[in-house]
Amino acid sequence: MSFWRGDYRGLGLALPSAPLGFDQPGPDWSGMKVSSLNKPLLEEWDMVSQIMDEGDVERWMKQAPHPFAMAYAGHQYGHFTMLGDGRALLVGEWQNASNQCYDIHLKGSGPTSFARRGDGQATLRSMLREFLISEALHGLGVPTTRSLMVLETPHKVWRDYDQRGGVLVRVAPHHVRIGTLEYAIRALNPDDYALYAGAVLQRTTQCWAKEPSLGPEKSLYTPSSWRPEAVVAFFVDWSLRQAELLAHWMRVGFVHGVLNTDNISLLGVTMDLGPCAFVNAYDLNRSFSSIDTQGRYAWGHQVEVMEWNASVLLSCLLPLLADDGNTTNAMPVARALLDQFRAQCQEAKTRMHFRKLGLDSAKGHGDDRVLALVEEWQSWLSVQQPDYALVYLELEKILAETLEGGPSKDSGSSLDFDSIFNANPQSLPSGAWLSGWLRVLGESEGGDSAALHRMQENNPSLIPRNHWVEQALDQRVLHGSTGLWDELRTAMENPYQRHDRFKHLNQPPQHGDAGYQTFCGT
Ligand code: AMP
Ligand code: MG
Repeated sequence: MSFWRGDYRGLGLALPSAPLGFDQPGPDWSGMKVSSLNKPLLEEWDMVSQIMDEGDVERWMKQAPHPFAMAYAGHQYGHFTMLGDGRALLVGEWQNASNQCYDIHLKGSGPTSFARRGDGQATLRSMLREFLISEALHGLGVPTTRSLMVLETPHKVWRDYDQRGGVLVRVAPHHVRIGTLEYAIRALNPDDYALYAGAVLQRTTQCWAKEPSLGPEKSLYTPSSWRPEAVVAFFVDWSLRQAELLAHWMRVGFVHGVLNTDNISLLGVTMDLGPCAFVNAYDLNRSFSSIDTQGRYAWGHQVEVMEWNASVLLSCLLPLLADDGNTTNAMPVARALLDQFRAQCQEAKTRMHFRKLGLDSAKGHGDDRVLALVEEWQSWLSVQQPDYALVYLELEKILAETLEGGPSKDSGSSLDFDSIFNANPQSLPSGAWLSGWLRVLGESEGGDSAALHRMQENNPSLIPRNHWVEQALDQRVLHGSTGLWDELRTAMENPYQRHDRFKHLNQPPQHGDAGYQTFCGT
């Protein structure tokens, strides 16, 4: 059985002191039209029988408990700010037939008590973009909040000029951010904060364990106090997930764009896909967001900034880490956890670099010869700045050709590495590097074919290139043509499949992407 749960507001309102959000009037559903529907997700979550068309969406949403805007704060570009769901609403929690629970969250559904001077709206174009990219990330194997549908509103939204309005219906096991704890630690008295934070940690670990909920009568957010050891275990788990997430972002060339603490999920998944984009050329300093003028959230700086965010999370966990109530005593533990997170990020990144080159990340880690190869490759990428997705595909092709070409490379003598290099100067650092790389692959367990398989699993044959995404959105929103949108959606369902059908979608823009920018609050 699948159903709306009624207790989601227990997250904040069950507490005796300040509520962590406000009930809101529901959105006006009249005139809303379904613009995009994620059918596979609807099926996965047993909603398909409920939602077939606009009328069903309205009926289904109206059965949801009642809309709630969550309070949160955050450090934006390093500065503390009070925020909250200004244009978003938690409409309820859906429990599917496998007893898994998901928050159903609207974005662009109208101003809330946290809207400040914002209009609470979103453009259809930006919500479709978020839908497309979150589902593309999912296809790429990158943990993320998901998109269930985009609705078009009957109203125009003013962003420099009148645009079509949209609402994104997004889903995740919960939408608690680091910033949610930053708000709660300031808004609640210490006892309530401990109960609240404990409940959030408990719920998060339940989600990670994919533990089904216990039944409709049981609250998902039972306030509970946590032992310091359990809080340490929680943070270590979060760190591992976050380190892997960062490595995924680096692996596929994803730049989140606005890694403020209010946009960092406690679940360790990608969240708030506003000004995000994908790199074409390998440029660690590339940022796309119009307001990130200093490159604080540039592609290659994401690990460092996440360390900073992790320190904010730890500061929120300090009261739970100190069982004697003295947070100063918990500082050494927090410092050690931060150091550990730093190390986990580096390890996850190194493993990812290994796998992209077909190297076995479990072996050869401590082998200086292998490490030197990986480092030489990285430096070459930084200097040459080739197209990131294509260069690995070219490397893979060279490996496949030498495999097919037959003669064993174990001796390293039967192939003319210099002529292979001369034929592919844009994809290889040198003939000597090629010979070293092939020798290491040949010597590794499973040999070249296992290496080829690893490359195919870790290097997408397609990413949602910015210029194709923008073209698909232009065609859809401005000209009513869904051809390219549909093609991108289909292609991104299997981005590791090696075939030529969608090859054109993996071509970088003809004249580069120097002028490409993304924007917040669109
Ligand atoms: P973001 O940059 O999307 O992470 O949003 C930062 C904050 O601004 C959040 O509290 C949002 O709810 C709020 N916000 C962004 N756009 C709007 C808008 N158009 N109306 C009201 N609040 C908004
Ligand atoms: Mg945000």
